[in-house]
Amino acid sequence: MIAKVIVDVPSRQTDRPFDYKVPADMEGWIEVGSRVGVPFGPRVLQGFVIELAETADVDPIKLKPLSELLDPVPPLLPDLIELAKWMSDKYCCSWTTALQAMVPAALKGKAERYISLNNDPDYLEEDYGLTALLPQEMLVWIGRQKQLKLETLQQRFPDYSAAIKEALLEGLLLEQTSIRDRLAIRKVLTVFPPDDEAAAREALQSFPARSAKQRELLAFMLERGEAMPLQALLAEAGGSPASVRALADKGLLGLHEVEQERDPYAGRNFQRTEPLPLMPGQQDVYERIAGTVTRGEPQALLLHGVTGSGKTEVYMQSIQHCLELGKQAIVLVPEISLTPQMVERFKGRFGDAVAVLHSRLSNGERYDEWRKIRSRRVQVAIGARSAIFAPFERIGLIIIDEEHESSYKQEESPKYHARDVAVRRARQHGAAVVLGSATPSLESFAAASRPPAPGKESALLPMPERVGSRPLPPVQVIDMRSELQDGNRSMFSRRLHAALAERLERGEQSVLLLNRRGYSTFVMCRSCGYTAACPHCDISLTYHQKSRALRCHYCGHAELAPKECPSCSSEHIRYFGTGTQRVEEELAKLFPGIRVIRMDVDTTSEKHAHEKLLKQFGERKADVLLGTQMVAKGLDFPFVTLVGVIAADTSLNLPDFRSAERTFQLLTQVAGRAGRHHLPGEVVIQTYSPEHYAILTAQQHDYAAFVREELKHRSVMGYPPFCRLVLVTMSHEQLPLLSSVSEQFAERLRGLAADEGVLGPLEGGLQRAMDILGPVASPISRMKDRYRFQCVIKYRGNIDVPALLKAAMSPFLEGSQPKLVQFSIDVDPQVIL
Ligand code: ADP
Ligand code: ZN
Ligand code: ZN
Repeated sequence: MIAKVIVDVPSRQTDRPFDYKVPADMEGWIEVGSRVGVPFGPRVLQGFVIELAETADVDPIKLKPLSELLDPVPPLLPDLIELAKWMSDKYCCSWTTALQAMVPAALKGKAERYISLNNDPDYLEEDYGLTALLPQEMLVWIGRQKQLKLETLQQRFPDYSAAIKEALLEGLLLEQTSIRDRLAIRKVLTVFPPDDEAAAREALQSFPARSAKQRELLAFMLERGEAMPLQALLAEAGGSPASVRALADKGLLGLHEVEQERDPYAGRNFQRTEPLPLMPGQQDVYERIAGTVTRGEPQALLLHGVTGSGKTEVYMQSIQHCLELGKQAIVLVPEISLTPQMVERFKGRFGDAVAVLHSRLSNGERYDEWRKIRSRRVQVAIGARSAIFAPFERIGLIIIDEEHESSYKQEESPKYHARDVAVRRARQHGAAVVLGSATPSLESFAAASRPPAPGKESALLPMPERVGSRPLPPVQVIDMRSELQDGNRSMFSRRLHAALAERLERGEQSVLLLNRRGYSTFVMCRSCGYTAACPHCDISLTYHQKSRALRCHYCGHAELAPKECPSCSSEHIRYFGTGTQRVEEELAKLFPGIRVIRMDVDTTSEKHAHEKLLKQFGERKADVLLGTQMVAKGLDFPFVTLVGVIAADTSLNLPDFRSAERTFQLLTQVAGRAGRHHLPGEVVIQTYSPEHYAILTAQQHDYAAFVREELKHRSVMGYPPFCRLVLVTMSHEQLPLLSSVSEQFAERLRGLAADEGVLGPLEGGLQRAMDILGPVASPISRMKDRYRFQCVIKYRGNIDVPALLKAAMSPFLEGSQPKLVQFSIDVDPQVIL
C-alpha cells in the first residue's frame, strides 16, 4: 500500500503529494485524513495522507516507509482533504497551509499520547455491547499497560485496527496526552456511589458512632446515586478526604481519577428552552429552510431579516429539523457576537449536543471541543470562522449569522472567506446554507436576487418585521457642524446630551458607539506637527496609556513615549488617548456619578473580560455601555432604550470602496440594539455628513434604498458585485529590485491575459474581461522594513485567475531567498491596504 502525503512545508516547490510505503502493521490504521510522520530529507516531518494507492509514481524500491502514525483516529476526513485542495487552488495557497487551517492548534505540536481503558464503570455497563467489540484478552492486556503507546498497540493487534478506532470514537478506549504536554487532559479524583446498593444500605445501619462522618458521606452518596468530584462532595457534604478514602477501602464507595474535558461551560446550568410558536413570517422562512435540508439540496439561502425579527429562533428550529434527520449542523457567528448570551441560547435549546469553538478558548479547551465533534458526541458546532471545518460526517445545514461581517475573511494565509468555503462544503454534503443578516453584503444580496432557475424558488428569504410587530426605533440624525456653529464644542450634541439625561432619570440604559477607526491614539507635536512614526513601517505609532509606550500595530516595534518633541524639542507634544477613553472622561464630567462600562481593545484584552462586562451591563450595574464596533453586534438587553452614535462618518471617509456599506451596516446594527423589548427605543446619530445616502438610508431603516444607491456607485466605479477583485502585494527590502520585479510581473500577467483574450477594461461590457491596475505603492508602503507594491486585478466572467497568477509569478519564485520578492495574494480582499 502506498500513501500519498502532503508534507508540512509551505513552499511552492514541495506543494504536491509525496509517495511513501505503508508498513504492514500500519495498514489497517492509515486512512485518507491520517496525520503521519514521514522522512523528508534529513528530517522527519508531519504530513497528511491525502490518498491511498496500490502503485506509486516512482520506483517502489526507492520509496521510504512512513515513520509513524500520529493519531489513531484520523483528524481529517476525505471531504476536508478535498476541500483543502479546492482552497489551495482558489486562494493560491499551498495545500498544506489549507490543511493546517482545519485542525486545532493542539494537534500541530508533537505530543506523546497514550491509550488506556475508560474506567468509568457506568460507561462499561451502558455500552456493554462495545466490550464485545474487542477481545477480553486485549482489554485485560491494555488494562495492565502503564503508558501504552499507540505504536505498541498497533504492532500487537494489527488485525483490530477498525475495532480499536471504533472503541476510541465511542469512548471505550481513551487517548490521553502525556504529562509532559501542557495540554494534558485534566484528571479529577471522583467519588462513585456504591456498586452494591443493598449492601451499602445495610452497612449504613451498623456504622460505629465514631465514624459518623463516614456514615453521613455514604448516606449522601446513596441519596445522590451518581458520581461527583471529590472536591465537590466535600464542599457539599463536609468531611475529609480521609473519610472518603476509608469508605473506598471498605469497598462501599468508588474513588478513581476520571479524565475531565476542559469544558469551559462546565458547571453552568443552561435553562432549557422549548421551541417558540413561530410568527407567520418566521414560519414561511422556516419551511423553506427545512424543505431544503430535507431534500439535501446544497442551496445557499439568504435570510434577510431586520434586527429583532427573530432569526435565531428560525435558525434553532431549522437545526432541530436537521438533527431529526440524523444530520449535523454548523453555526458560524462573528467572534465578537459569540457572547455567553448567544451560547446560552443554543446550549439552552440543544444542551450537550453543542460544541462551542472560539478563539478565547485555550488550545487545550479548543481541542476538547473539537474532539467532541470528531467523536460524534455532539451534533451542533457553533463557532467563529474556522468552525466551518468542524469534522462532521453528515452535514445537513450550515448557518452563517451576520453574514456581511468582514471577520469571516481570514486575513492571513490561507486567506479564505468562510462564506465561500461553506458553500463549497455544503455542496460536498448536500447541505443547505443559510446566510442571515439585517444588512446582507452586496455580493450575497446580488447573488440571491438573481432570478431562480426554472422550477426553483428564490434564494432570498425576507423577514421584514420585528417579532411582536415592535416598531424599529426612530432615528434622529444630528448635524454636528450646526452644533459647532451654535457654539457647542462638546462631543455630545444637545439632543444626545438631553436623551442621556432622560435615561439616567428614568433608570434606563444607553449604548454609545464610537467608531474607533476615526480616533487613533497617536502622538502629535502642537508646535511643529511632528507625529511619531514606526521606523520600520510607514504608519504612525499608537500610544498605550498603561505602559506609556508607543507601539507599532504592524511589526510590534515599541519605544518609550518622548517627553519633548524629538523634532523641535517643544514641550507641546500631546498624546491622544483612545477615543473611548476621551468619551468616558467627558461623560463623567457632564454627568457626575454616571456608571459607564467601556468596551474596547484595552478593556477586553483579558480572557473573558468581554463576557464579564456584558454580564455587568445586563445586570444593570451600569447606565451606559460605551464602546467600539463591539457594542453594535447581537446584544439584546431589555432596558436599553437609547443608542447614540458619537461620530458616524469616521468610517465613511476611509479609502475603501466598502466604506459606505460598512457605515450603513454598522449604523443599522447598532440602531437595532434599542427598544427590542417592551420599552420603546430611540437612536441618535451624530455626523458631519448628514446628507450622505448611507446615513439617510440607515435613518429610514431602508436597506433596499441603500442597495439601489450603492449599486449605482459600484457599477460606475467597477467594483464588486459587478466584478471580482484579487489583490497582489509584493514586498522586498530593496526598493529598486521590488520596483523592477513588480513591473515585470504586471507585464507578464498582461501578456498572459491577452493570450487568453480577456485583457481589457471591464467597462467594455464584455462577459469575460480582466483589468490589471498597477503596480503602485501599497497604501502602507513599508512594513517591517520591507517596501510594498501592489496590483489590483478586476475581472468578470469565468477566468482562471489563480492559474494566470501562478504562471505570471513563476519566474520570480526561482532563485535564492534574499533576492526573492515575496508575493502575497488575496482573492476577494476585504481590505485593500
Ligand atoms: P434577530 O437575531 O433577528 O435580531 P432575535 O432572534 O434576537 O432577533 O429575536 C428577537 C427577540 O424576539 C428575542 O428576544 C427572541 O426570543 C424573540 N422571539 C423570536 N421569535 C419569537 C417568537 N416566535 N415568539 C416570541 N418571541 C420570539
Ligand atoms: Zn515639534
Ligand atoms: Zn512597525
